[in-house]
Amino acid sequence: MTTQKSPNYAAEPKTIKIPPVYLYLFSEGDGKNKKLLGGKGAGLCEMTQIGLPVPPGFVITTQTCLEYFDGGFKLPEGLADQVRQAMSQLEKSMNLGFGDSEKPLLVSIRSGAAISMPGMMDTVLNLGLNDETVRGLIKRSGDERFGWDSYRRFISLFGEIVLKINSDLFKNAMEALKKERNATYDTTLSSFDLHGLVETFKRIIEDNVGKPIPNDPYEQLFMAIEAVFASWNGKRAVDYRREFKITPEIANGTAVNVQAMVFGNVGEHSATGVVFTRNPSTGENVLFGDYLERAQGEDIVAGIRTPKPIFEMKQVMPEVHGELLKVRETLETHFREIQDMEFTVENGKLFMLQTRSAKMNIAAGMKTSVDLVNEGLITKEQALMRLDATQLTQLMYSQIDPENKTPPVTVGLGVSPGAASGEVVFDADEAERQSKTHGKKIILLREQTKPEDIHGFFAAQGILTTVGGKTSHAAVVARGMGKPCVTGAGGIKINSVEESATIGDHKIIQGDVITIDGTSGKVWLGEVSMVEPEFSKDMNTILKWADEFRRLGVRTNVDTPSDAAKALRFGAEGIGLCRTERMFNAADRIGIFQEMILADSPEDRAATLRRLQPLQKEDFKAMLRVMQGFPVTIRLLDPPLHEFLPSEEEIQRQIDMLQKSKVALDNVCRLPKILRTLDPQLEPFLTGDQQMLNSLARLQKSELDKKLETLQKIRVLKEVNPMLGHRGVRLGITYPEIYETQVEAILEAAAELIKETVAVKVEIMVPNVCTAEELKRVEELIKRVEQRVTEKTGVVVPYKFGSMIEVVRACMRAGKLAEMAEFFSFGTNDLTQATFSFSREDAENKFLPLYNQLKILQDNPFEILDVKGVGRLMSITVEWGRRSRPDLEIGICGEQGGEPSSIEFCHAIGLDYVSCSPYRISIARLAAAQAAIKEKKGVHGKTV
Ligand code: PEP
Ligand code: MG
Repeated sequence: MTTQKSPNYAAEPKTIKIPPVYLYLFSEGDGKNKKLLGGKGAGLCEMTQIGLPVPPGFVITTQTCLEYFDGGFKLPEGLADQVRQAMSQLEKSMNLGFGDSEKPLLVSIRSGAAISMPGMMDTVLNLGLNDETVRGLIKRSGDERFGWDSYRRFISLFGEIVLKINSDLFKNAMEALKKERNATYDTTLSSFDLHGLVETFKRIIEDNVGKPIPNDPYEQLFMAIEAVFASWNGKRAVDYRREFKITPEIANGTAVNVQAMVFGNVGEHSATGVVFTRNPSTGENVLFGDYLERAQGEDIVAGIRTPKPIFEMKQVMPEVHGELLKVRETLETHFREIQDMEFTVENGKLFMLQTRSAKMNIAAGMKTSVDLVNEGLITKEQALMRLDATQLTQLMYSQIDPENKTPPVTVGLGVSPGAASGEVVFDADEAERQSKTHGKKIILLREQTKPEDIHGFFAAQGILTTVGGKTSHAAVVARGMGKPCVTGAGGIKINSVEESATIGDHKIIQGDVITIDGTSGKVWLGEVSMVEPEFSKDMNTILKWADEFRRLGVRTNVDTPSDAAKALRFGAEGIGLCRTERMFNAADRIGIFQEMILADSPEDRAATLRRLQPLQKEDFKAMLRVMQGFPVTIRLLDPPLHEFLPSEEEIQRQIDMLQKSKVALDNVCRLPKILRTLDPQLEPFLTGDQQMLNSLARLQKSELDKKLETLQKIRVLKEVNPMLGHRGVRLGITYPEIYETQVEAILEAAAELIKETVAVKVEIMVPNVCTAEELKRVEELIKRVEQRVTEKTGVVVPYKFGSMIEVVRACMRAGKLAEMAEFFSFGTNDLTQATFSFSREDAENKFLPLYNQLKILQDNPFEILDVKGVGRLMSITVEWGRRSRPDLEIGICGEQGGEPSSIEFCHAIGLDYVSCSPYRISIARLAAAQAAIKEKKGVHGKTV
């Protein structure tokens, strides 16, 4: 009989609700889809499907976890049926029954998010055990001790993870029993002991939750699934995601893996282990890791017994060891990546329980990258993409020994990486003296540093300040020099009168040894052991490959010829920022520079500058010579002048002292007169003394007058808001003689080198430009000086003229500025400050950490370019600038120029180069290559 279809028939399926697929068997799941199956689930599916020995199981998706949350913490309808169906498949393949008292199937329940979050979520083992099935397990294994051991493990894990009972209660009961039996290890406990422990554990559960542990295996299973889902929102997991910036786009919800148990703790020929396909510390191509005989996986992590190195397995279980080696090869060939695997051996049979990409340090990362390319497993592009560019800094500095156990006394901001130990010194002069005269290793400890402390930086191994952030003077200078620096260590209080400091209860005086770690910001009392940096052959190979792919140029921010030479060795292709103010701070010229600032008239100022000019010229010559024809971008003077003068407090202190000594000296000066009246015969002896005292008084007075004059000048120069004040090109307009001297020194230096046939490429850069008119005036000034230099030297020096882009108005006027400027360089330290209206000196200490914590801002914009705000301004500037000058050269020289995601953005908006401190050049080379490769593959990073 045929049925006539009703006209509505086609609509009917809409009413049938097909439940979504909540889970996949390992033999079916798409192992490429980590987002849905979690890393562990995806790995288990892949291993199963390539034929490796994996106990059967299934993975409940991360999507199901999200539905569990959305549905008000209720398992979605239909999940239970799918779980029961999947369990019956497991029963079939294992030939066991879930809850069967004769041949019980036991399962493990494990979490597994898209991204590995080690130890952050929960696992329950041996689920399915109860007072009946334990008997079946004993019968099946023929090992009574194993049966009770498995049961007590299940009860404590279920109690802790599912019923939220304090795990110490179980641990303490176990320890008490071990003590009673005089047993060092759990393996020494007899089956009788373990049976007793099962009863104790059951009592703990009843006492704490008011009812016994459920007997029904399915009840156990669903409770455990819910507990694993819930662990995604546990405090540990939430904190971990916040710390490692794991957003919902990266991983959302956890999968739950339900897998048939295999036992590493049954019989003589059982074991469990965690191994890497290669050594994750060195990259060496050997199976690496540990295993433990007669144990379950958790025992290795818990460190209850000391595991044995995996190579020893070759003696004890040669066949399994051989099989593991084969698995190693299969997995590496399949994943084309170093794997971190967990396995269990049950009665001589190997089972794989997990595989995932191994976390390695960068040295191992580079060695394995080079090796995998040479072995034909990956391409050069893949070799570069699998490395974390930021980690390259690990190889450039001394580091605190990873084995160090000494706790720090305080923690500040780690602003310039590397570790250093030395004697504490509280001022720069003393630092120089202690280092030069006594050869001491120094840590310069200051509230904050100023340009005049520069010689202290040279002398010190590391710098520690109690205030300031990542772009404070100390941070920027130390990073430029590659010296470790910790700033904002507010836990340290400096007493400048006593020249001492306190950290909590500890008092520190000059000469006390401390250690700082500029990576973590930690500070220790005394010396802490360190490991030395290495620059390996693999690193050179990787960076050479990176150079083949990158489009962005990589320059450096340096101010001295020795740093320039170092930067060249690291692969710099030019200087993107030479901050000339650092040159004025050298010991032989700071005095003259201060005289110049204190000069009363332009003529006096010009005269003093003439004394500085030859010194500057020699500096520029040395710098240009070292750079061998690579571009050298020299920035004209930028910081407010008062930064070159001592602080008001310091001068006031000196004046107070001089005034006190004046009173004393005046009294002494009156002494000869008194003596004369007392005894006129003393006259011949007193005349000489009188003269000497008078000249001393004159000297003292002139010194005091000088200091008073300086104090007056400091007060005049003092600004409420110096970063937005009299600085940058504004200085060049108000004191043109300063810029003239600098430009003359630059052009003469270049002319003299050209005469020596040394290749030079000069770029003169104007800071803090707001208007085209400013730029025009400086351009005219340069032209005037150029003419003079050409007449004097007979050489026409080729140079480029450009503007820094650090001010929002400069971005908006990019087209106009580019009519004069041949290049732009984004000063993103100032541009970020200007865009956010955040003081770069204060933000990082005051509110930025809270802003990051509350997610008001994802990152610190002084470290990682804010592409949505500052980045948008940059891309507009690039577009408008190039519209008026298509060949406009554009770079970045702010701190973000050495940070990988910022570099990727700079690549995307078409900058020509990034410029960073010498120690970040290798990061920049690699990150620039990664940006180019991503673009080729159509992968987009942050966009505006
Ligand atoms: C900048 O502002 O980004 C810059 C490089 O200049 P400075 O940090 O010296 O102000
Ligand atoms: Mg600036």
